[in-house]
Amino acid sequence: VVELVKVRKSYGQTEVLKGIDLRVRQGECVFLIGPSGSGKSTLLRCCNRLEELSSGDVLVDGVNIYSPHVDVNRLRTQMGMVFQSFNLYPHMSALGNVTLALRHVLGKGREEADAIGHAMLKRVGLSDRAGHFPSQLSGGQQQRVGIARTLALQPKVVLFDEPTSALDPELVNGVLQTMRELRDSGMTMMVVSHEMRFAREAADTVVFMADGAIVEQGTAQQVFGQPQHARTREFLSQVE
Ligand code: ATP
Ligand code: MG
Repeated sequence: VVELVKVRKSYGQTEVLKGIDLRVRQGECVFLIGPSGSGKSTLLRCCNRLEELSSGDVLVDGVNIYSPHVDVNRLRTQMGMVFQSFNLYPHMSALGNVTLALRHVLGKGREEADAIGHAMLKRVGLSDRAGHFPSQLSGGQQQRVGIARTLALQPKVVLFDEPTSALDPELVNGVLQTMRELRDSGMTMMVVSHEMRFAREAADTVVFMADGAIVEQGTAQQVFGQPQHARTREFLSQVE
């Protein structure tokens, strides 16, 4: 579904993506790992046009998403992103947050949007929290509302950028469980995470990046079990 072709991205003189080629298949769960500053977040952001590319192409189902004809708001419903910092609206209930884009981007009426919203909150285990405001929810619950908001738009792909990094340790597992269920339901996912144990368990493909380039990629078993490059071994020895 997603294909990055020779993607390059610079900020001023600094090249942070140095020619990325990557294919993500339908239903595949790809983990991006690598040191801080290696370009993982930038790569994800290129997939829903939160970045402008210096060169290269990103194709989704064969369509170049950087074409001027692409409706960026609609693209971002298809390439749903879940952020580290949740980004919920504090003055809106959980249900309000989940239904906002359904109503304003996809143009659904209140009744239909609310029905979808309730179904999505149920899916992430928060049926009983629809009327709660973000300040009345734990960080883990807020993140699951964030996931429900993304899923409500029926994305083709969900992009996760360190979804559990801002959470207290005891709240991480609930979010990982939601991601596990999503993966098992066949969702195509690209995940930046420092949760190496989770990557080992959930990833179909692990991509190790360093200095804006893909150093190696393979199954979780290959990359964690028999890393081919010294750079990968060094990184894994520090984080595992
Ligand atoms: P981390 O694990 O710390 O989140 P990352 O792998 O996600 O790191 P990126 O956020 O993609 O790394 O950043 C890659 C490089 O691009 C870094 O060197 C960063 O300083 C630089 N960078 C990112 N955003 C900008 C920006 N808006 N302007 C200038 N440089 C940027
Ligand atoms: Mg990052």
